Amino acid sequence: MYQSFIGLEVHIHLLTKTKVFCNCRSAFGDEPNTNVCPVCMGYPGVLPSLNIEAMRMGCTVARALGCSIPEKTWFERKQYFYPDMPKNYQISQFASPLGQQGSVEIEGAANGRPFKKTVRIKECHLEEDAGKMIHTGTVSLLDYNRAGVSLLEIVTEPDMETGEEAEVFIQQLRRMVRYLGVCDGNMEEGSLRADANVSINFPGKGLGKKVEIKNLNSSRFVRLGLNYEIARQSEFMDAGKTVVQETRLWNENRDQTESMRKKENAHDYRYFPEPDLPIFAPDSAFLKTVDDSLVELPAARMKRFRDEYGLNPEQADLICEEMEEADYFEAAAAAAVSRGITKKDAASRIANFLLIDIKRMLHREGLSPSSLASFALTPQRLASLVVLLSQGRVSTKNARQAMEAAAAEGRDPADIIREKGWELITDPEAIAGAVTAVLAAEESIAAELRSIAADTGKEKRRRTLTAYLLGKVLAATGGRADTKIAADRIAEALGTRE
Ligand SMILES: [Zn+2]
Repeated sequence: MYQSFIGLEVHIHLLTKTKVFCNCRSAFGDEPNTNVCPVCMGYPGVLPSLNIEAMRMGCTVARALGCSIPEKTWFERKQYFYPDMPKNYQISQFASPLGQQGSVEIEGAANGRPFKKTVRIKECHLEEDAGKMIHTGTVSLLDYNRAGVSLLEIVTEPDMETGEEAEVFIQQLRRMVRYLGVCDGNMEEGSLRADANVSINFPGKGLGKKVEIKNLNSSRFVRLGLNYEIARQSEFMDAGKTVVQETRLWNENRDQTESMRKKENAHDYRYFPEPDLPIFAPDSAFLKTVDDSLVELPAARMKRFRDEYGLNPEQADLICEEMEEADYFEAAAAAAVSRGITKKDAASRIANFLLIDIKRMLHREGLSPSSLASFALTPQRLASLVVLLSQGRVSTKNARQAMEAAAAEGRDPADIIREKGWELITDPEAIAGAVTAVLAAEESIAAELRSIAADTGKEKRRRTLTAYLLGKVLAATGGRADTKIAADRIAEALGTRE
């Protein structure tokens, strides 16, 4: 067995309205080359200016990843020549990135074995994105709308060992930046992109020859690509060959990585400080805007949902996938608790409705859980239904029907239950009256039940007859009698109580 080392470089598009160093619109899918200006096109003599919102978002992510924000942070020019970069250099950060030395906990399972580990974050730095090249036949087209868009790069130390760990890291990071409202996390559109580097070596021998994998545009490809690469490198080592340091591309059609370019030495980008942008020294007012942007992060919220509401890990994970869903859950639970039912009772009922019935309703409408904030069945309305159920005042079946109607009509399910006469009869006197009437009408069955009340050999017959009588009592009350009270009353009247 070899030891493997995986590090990730994740690029996220920050949701700033404009680009990072100019006022061009930052948007996906616009007509090519419409969001450009002399600054992002790198015309001579123009001056970039820092989008402070991009800096705030970047620092917020840095804080969420446990990084420290230095007293001074600045930008460098990273020199390289490539058609997607009109200036022939990229404004990035090198010597003093905005976020330094953090860590996150990841938790998941690989091959059925649970894992939990700390991944160190080397740094977070702010930079501009490059344009997009579109290759068609013999020509390549360039769209510079993306050139200059705010990009935050998050670099981890090589602390992960399996594709599964890297997949979980990406999933958790994606969820985190969505909670923070700084990135939409859409990997297919490229707003969250990951490059991975992986090396293997004999245990205790340190890092091996580093192979970079690009084109991993889903967290699943991150897992598959890395596991493929670890297996490929292991075969090489087994055969006594040396792994070549190179960059490889993930080919999703063949489920394999393919060599892209051999890399003898690391690139010399000849970084030097960007002379047109001042050093940024975050003051206390700026740092306050960063702190104010921090929300309870998904990992902390999941843990709290388990501890405080008694949800199981799977429920907590599913409900916390989207912040809007977690907010909805908590609002409904608070409303139900304020009407006198216990937190855990409210939570388990709400979790079930949310994860099964409400998800199904949203799916039917083509909506996602992120639209729960404007859902017609508000948390308060769900709470009123949950309270009725908890108090045994409505059957589960009728509760579901009331919920559907409430969502469709935008009303309180409690009103619908009242109108439809679905409230269960819990008044013992009213139920006793129905039981007496049924026993009188079913005289022979009642007599048979009395006669076998104590006969242990007639258990099955007794159950059949009791169920028959219970059905009659329910029918006599229009299906509204509380089943448990009715069954108790029948047993009491016939002396068949067990
Ligand atoms: Zn521009």
